[in-house]
Amino acid sequence: MSPLRVRTVCPYCAVGCHLDLLVENGRVVGMAHAVDSPVNGGNLCAKGNAALDLLNHPERLRTPLRRTRSGWEPLGWDDALDLAAQRIQDVLRRHGPNALGFLSSAKCTNEENYLLQKLARLLGTNNVDHCARLCHASTLTGLAPVLGTGAATNPLTDLARARCLLFVGSNLAENHPVAFRWVRRAKDRGAVVLVADPRKTPTAWIADLHLPVRPGTDIALLNALLHVIIRDGLEDKAFIRSRTMGFQEAARAVRDATPQWAESVTGVPARDITRAARLFARSKPASLIYCMGITQHHNGTQAVRACADLVLATGNVGREGSGLIPVRGQDNVQGACDMGALSALLPGYGSVMDPRSRAALEALWGCAEGTIPDRPGLTVTEMEAAAGRSLRALVAMGENPMVTSPNGNRVAEGLGRLDFFLVMDLFLTESARSAHLVLPAAAWAEKSGSKTSADRRVQWSPRAVDPPGDARADAWIITRLARRLGLEPFFPYKTSEEVLREINRAVPPYAGITPERLQGAPAGLHWPCPQEGHPGTAILFQDGFPTPDGRARFFPVPFEPPPESPDADYPLCLTTGRVTAHYNSGAMSRRTPALMDLSPELFVEIHPDDAARLGVRAGRRVGVVTRRGKMEAVARVASTVPRGVVFAPFHFPGTNRLTLDVVDPEARIPAFKAAACRLEPV
Ligand code: SF4
Repeated sequence: MSPLRVRTVCPYCAVGCHLDLLVENGRVVGMAHAVDSPVNGGNLCAKGNAALDLLNHPERLRTPLRRTRSGWEPLGWDDALDLAAQRIQDVLRRHGPNALGFLSSAKCTNEENYLLQKLARLLGTNNVDHCARLCHASTLTGLAPVLGTGAATNPLTDLARARCLLFVGSNLAENHPVAFRWVRRAKDRGAVVLVADPRKTPTAWIADLHLPVRPGTDIALLNALLHVIIRDGLEDKAFIRSRTMGFQEAARAVRDATPQWAESVTGVPARDITRAARLFARSKPASLIYCMGITQHHNGTQAVRACADLVLATGNVGREGSGLIPVRGQDNVQGACDMGALSALLPGYGSVMDPRSRAALEALWGCAEGTIPDRPGLTVTEMEAAAGRSLRALVAMGENPMVTSPNGNRVAEGLGRLDFFLVMDLFLTESARSAHLVLPAAAWAEKSGSKTSADRRVQWSPRAVDPPGDARADAWIITRLARRLGLEPFFPYKTSEEVLREINRAVPPYAGITPERLQGAPAGLHWPCPQEGHPGTAILFQDGFPTPDGRARFFPVPFEPPPESPDADYPLCLTTGRVTAHYNSGAMSRRTPALMDLSPELFVEIHPDDAARLGVRAGRRVGVVTRRGKMEAVARVASTVPRGVVFAPFHFPGTNRLTLDVVDPEARIPAFKAAACRLEPV
């Protein structure tokens, strides 16, 4: 008999590619490309191709572990959950609910994120957040008042239909390789590709025009593009008049943002700025694709709004091949946000400060009025700063803050001060090693649930096999822990389907995305899908914006330089990013031999002139130092990185020990992308 073929969703990035597992006698025996998939047509990148390695990996956690003075002691589930509940109750009794913190995860399903935030709120705290705080919090905060919602306007497949693609701070070719196929298709059909990025990335290799913007100066570039469009009369006047508000204020704000001024700030030649602006405005439909090169700044929220201004000014919203595409990194960043795994927002994006939103959720949950606190909780970085002080216990589901959070030495100190640190994960990660209790979690194909890709496509990923040893799905763990904490009536679930049915009622854009529909939808369903029978909404804003007056809003966006600039002591600028072979903190990809073959170690890229001046030799180790710490990495000498800039991927321990923990005042996202550094011999 041939193996059973089970279609699942790739556990890595937010493109949401399908892959088929071949299952025999309860074991995965192979993988096949899902060639009939309407999402990825069988294409996978290096990570997707290596996903199977996670399931049978020898380092997978197989039993709960308690840290003792002499090492790790295995526990049974009853003992482990009793211990977790007792330690959490101790903290509640002695310090109150706001001494608890919960890190949810963009690597977990919608159901698991929904359950963890429900647990936090029923315990009386809004201290629940997840790694969107570190990657796209500024998208949510930036776009909500502009467009009425903070999500990608168009499906990723739509990139193939654009006549112009402007990438700003997005290296799609390396970070979302399957989605980049649609860019190549557009290019083959004659589309213009513009790339604004400090480095000449693989995305920039196919660009008609590369704009090598200095790290932290994107707003100056975006304002200058808008300046040229308005100066040359290329704005879409009919769209602006009928669909938007605030254009005049935005136009006034960019009056002095001439290409010449922008050249002096960004380093991009004025003639290229002018050419890019004209190409973007004249080639319709056009898409603007951005990622963490825009969002991870002290003014990331404003940078997102500057992107939106450009798209609105050219009328590139609400039609095929156009739009604003914030490309999420991990597979379920969008879903974790939709589920309210955020310190200030409830499932469906109601504010915790809005009495009606709180009351609606309390009524749905059947808990007492006033259970959900009315003040925002602590964000990821605020929890880390408060750890061991006002925050006494932390539960981390699939998160590895020791590697992903900025100013990592400070994070490690904080986690070390906690009374109780509980980690649920597949592996003994850097963060798990500092936990008091580690619970073994199931991987993607060992549990069922829904996930939402970068373009709001909700998909069902079924359980294909059992987890190894005693590992359990995070939903199972949260439910059992909640019951031990006295919340049994609120956690009656036996299946992920039951949780999704509650989500249908808690999150209005998911109301029509029932488990039955989702399990029978080969291409998933795009939210908003407000009721059963609704086909889902692939392209947003075709009939107006979900704002009080149905119009989008321009925001004047002033340019401010980065909070830390190169100086005599730290004369270079450290910027960070991703490589194809790795994923987030590297907890999964650094344990995958095929991916380590492709990218085996932490490296930094340095321009040949800087390398020659500083005596740095290609292939040798070099020290990189900022005001927050030091790391060693292998030097790669390449003219793809500009003079004065050092690039480091953030998938290895080390990079984020150096990054800056100054945060954007609105989104509270850290300014990862520009830190003053120096190089030292090792
Ligand atoms: Fe997986 Fe993303 Fe690669 Fe697709 S592009 S195979 S979703 S990592």
